[in-house]
Amino acid sequence: MSEFDYDLFVIGGGSGGVRAARVAAGETGAKVALAEADRYGGTCVIRGCVPKKLMVFASSYSGLPEEAAAYGWDMSLGAFDWDAFSSRMRNELDRLEGVYRNLLDGSGVKMFDARARLKDPHTIELSTGETVTAKHILVATGGRPVRPEMPNADLGIVSDDIFNLETLPKSILIIGGGYIACEFACILAGLGVEVTQYYRGAQILRGFDDEARGLIAESMRDLGVDLHTGTNIVEMSCFRDGDDLEDVSMDAPVEAAQYGMPEEDAPKDGPIKVKATNGRVRVFDQVLFATGRAPNTADMGLEEIGVSLRRGGAIEVDDYSQTAVPSVYAIGDVTDRVNLTPVAIREGMAFVETVFKGNPTPVDHDLIPSAVFTQPEMGTVGMTEEQARDREEVDVYCTSFRPMQSAFAEKTARVLMKLVVSKENRTVLGCHIVAPNAGEIIQLAGVAIKMGATKEDFDRTVAVHPTMSEEIVTMRKPVRTG
Ligand code: NDP
Repeated sequence: MSEFDYDLFVIGGGSGGVRAARVAAGETGAKVALAEADRYGGTCVIRGCVPKKLMVFASSYSGLPEEAAAYGWDMSLGAFDWDAFSSRMRNELDRLEGVYRNLLDGSGVKMFDARARLKDPHTIELSTGETVTAKHILVATGGRPVRPEMPNADLGIVSDDIFNLETLPKSILIIGGGYIACEFACILAGLGVEVTQYYRGAQILRGFDDEARGLIAESMRDLGVDLHTGTNIVEMSCFRDGDDLEDVSMDAPVEAAQYGMPEEDAPKDGPIKVKATNGRVRVFDQVLFATGRAPNTADMGLEEIGVSLRRGGAIEVDDYSQTAVPSVYAIGDVTDRVNLTPVAIREGMAFVETVFKGNPTPVDHDLIPSAVFTQPEMGTVGMTEEQARDREEVDVYCTSFRPMQSAFAEKTARVLMKLVVSKENRTVLGCHIVAPNAGEIIQLAGVAIKMGATKEDFDRTVAVHPTMSEEIVTMRKPVRTG
């Protein structure tokens, strides 16, 4: 009989936590419990990847009739019904949450619908008032979107809120140039919202390959996104009829008293007046802050029991996801390593392998393929040209062209295929694709690159014709070298 209530207590029912809990319980017979304070499925299923992708699908239909006309179809675009779509989307998320609960239940994991806090290295206090003990504790609490610190920032929304909007705004300002900002700029533009995007840097999608991000920026502008780089928000306030847009002082932020009402009743969902760093003042129905995410580590008792946090609040872990307190492990976004669902799942599996199967398994964070679901998508694996050049001499193979399907409809949209190759040993160091369904293509290119494929291995592979991705095996001459 164990001295603890459970062999494993998982805090957080997102992708990583649920996988670790059910594999530990289902495959090793461990006695496992899990606490989730919100909805099962976490960011990915409830307010991230899944509803986002459904919205990507929804928005992609808007371009169809125009293209279909070139193929002889007489199609017309009716109105987009947000109510119909969003209630269907919510039903789907409810169904998926049910699947997650059933998976845990079926594996014998005890679920607590409660917030958990660490009291000591083996004791968890729950918001229900219960206290339980566990031999091992796994923190998988994920992250949350953050707003910049500025007056009235709560007038804007964050990505979590998009899925619960009662109506789609007529116009929106998106702040940021990362994954979330760019994905929602394309989604909302596709759904007919007038989208303006302010990004403080010189080019969106910092950290991605320069040529690829350049093409994404161009494509987003073609899609109708009014993208301003080198621009940020400096002030925001509620817009009131009669406000003078030329009055750039904006020194009268929202004060409930101005409306003759208590603070909590001050209007928060009316038009918003925004002043940009270039001095221009504009009014938008909605402002979306896509300005990054922060790990959920506040008020969990972590530092009190000796778990070290990094700057920004992420939990510090070793290669085996173990924290400074030996009985406490952490996986997923709360550790701010590579913040992607499949990585959190891998980290959860490696944790179970290490702790419950006696097979110490570090997580391999190298060569992780990923996609940005802009329109077109960007798929990427390995080093950017810029990163590779900093390390060694490279040959760069790149082609950009108008793909057959949309070129036939006289669209100017371009795609890009790029390989960054080591000059020394010909290994493909990076692959970058901007194209419809690039996420699907990069998954397979990722296998080859993970196996250490050389450019000659790509060359030896026969093209699949006629496709866009055949270009990835037919590029003969480097466009740049050195
Ligand atoms: P990112 O870190 O990718 O982007 C944040 C953006 O906000 C950057 O452009 C950043 O600018 C800008 N920013 C930060 N602070 C401020 C500020 N104070 N004022 C103005 N701009 C600011 O975060 P996201 O929220 O887009 O995404 C978080 C993570 O979620 C991603 O890194 C990714 O790991 C994951 N994710 C993955 C997806 C996928 O796989 N398709 C989809 C969505 C999210 P700067 O570049 O100058 O720092």
